Amino acid sequence: MTKEDFRKILNLEEFIDIIKVETGDEKTKCIHIKSSRKKARCPKCNNFSKKIHDYLKPSKITYLKNSEEETYLIVYKRRFECKYCKKTFTEDLGISSPKNKMSHKTKQLILK
Ligand SMILES: [Zn+2]
Repeated sequence: MTKEDFRKILNLEEFIDIIKVETGDEKTKCIHIKSSRKKARCPKCNNFSKKIHDYLKPSKITYLKNSEEETYLIVYKRRFECKYCKKTFTEDLGISSPKNKMSHKTKQLILK
């Protein structure tokens, strides 16, 4: 499967970059993702900030887990510093818990 296939299956936003897909063993996949955006919107004052404060430790989200298949998203997030209100905030990649949204068919696709 190509990265684009993964993007479609996982229903990722356009600005999400798939860094790499790691296959651990037969049933484990780790999909590393980050934002390709150069800026993020400050949740406090709504201005865009380009100033990166630091990089967070990647977080691991369980995307799919059953007896045959385990798929994880490894999410790399940055913290930005707003130059207007000085607030430091973490960017939002729009990754919500996708488990409920995924149809059985989608799960079958990932299994292949
Ligand atoms: Zn702000």
